[in-house]
Amino acid sequence: MTLVGINSSSTAARPEAFGSGEKVEESGRYRRPIQAEEWRSILGDLEETLSRLERSVRGLLDKRVEEGTQWLDVRMAKYCDLTFPTCEDICCNGKVVFFNQTDLIYLSSLGGFIPPGQTRTKASDPCRYLGDNRCCLPRVFRPYVCVWFLCEAQMGVFQK
Ligand code: SF4
Ligand code: SF4
Repeated sequence: MTLVGINSSSTAARPEAFGSGEKVEESGRYRRPIQAEEWRSILGDLEETLSRLERSVRGLLDKRVEEGTQWLDVRMAKYCDLTFPTCEDICCNGKVVFFNQTDLIYLSSLGGFIPPGQTRTKASDPCRYLGDNRCCLPRVFRPYVCVWFLCEAQMGVFQK
């Protein structure tokens, strides 16, 4: 699998927002360490539910999300190139990054590759997709919070 820049990808996004009772836009369901067996079971259930949707509806939604993410990837990669060389605290080392229910519905509906597990099976583990300071998942397969996250340094660049 192609290695892609860790960049923006990560998420310790705003760790303080998770579990604080603050309202966030995404579902918190499944946002926790998950063992392999439960991961397979969740995906199996979602696949069964999705199979009842019109194929045309699924295809349209997936395509739009995928295209939007690819569009974003080019731009986020540029920010990554600017900020990563001087980064002293890689956000992917955060322990609160997980796939959530929305991510799993999206990934299941793609009907192809699905990441082999939750980001970690134990709370203390590092993200299983972090290798050599880089994320080994293409952006379209990452938790959504990793797709859009801009760290402080990147926000600084963005606002210039
Ligand atoms: S904190 Fe910022 S610069 Fe460092 S890895 Fe995360 S997104 Fe990249
Ligand atoms: S999946 Fe893991 S390694 Fe990849 S961007 Fe998210 S936190 Fe970083």
